[in-house]
Amino acid sequence: MILRILRSVNRAYPFLVLGGYMVAFALAFICVFTFPLGALVLIIGSVLSLAFVVFFGETLSGIEGILTRRALKRNRCPACRMGPIQKNVAAYQCLGCGVRFEFDGTQLSQEAPDMETPDANTKLIVVE
Ligand SMILES: [Zn+2]
Repeated sequence: MILRILRSVNRAYPFLVLGGYMVAFALAFICVFTFPLGALVLIIGSVLSLAFVVFFGETLSGIEGILTRRALKRNRCPACRMGPIQKNVAAYQCLGCGVRFEFDGTQLSQEAPDMETPDANTKLIVVE
């Protein structure tokens, strides 16, 4: 449950930050003509807040990675909450929905890869 919420928040977070900075830009643009000190405060505040915004985003991504790795070790797919999970040499792959994850929990692909023609060099290790 927490992982699902965190995944959706992490997908929406960059757009939310972009929207916030665009609103700040529009306010600063209006303030240039009406209240120049407000524009200056908005610009300085936006630049100084960028470090906290990036830190918060990286923290959310890190927590999502930890929860994703934990779910993959329990043989549950973080995307579809089913399984089974297959462990390749390079990544985890959900056999139910085809989503692949790196070992650090990063999601690699959304679409299902071609299962009929596996790569000849790929060695598959089934986890349980
Ligand atoms: Zn899945």
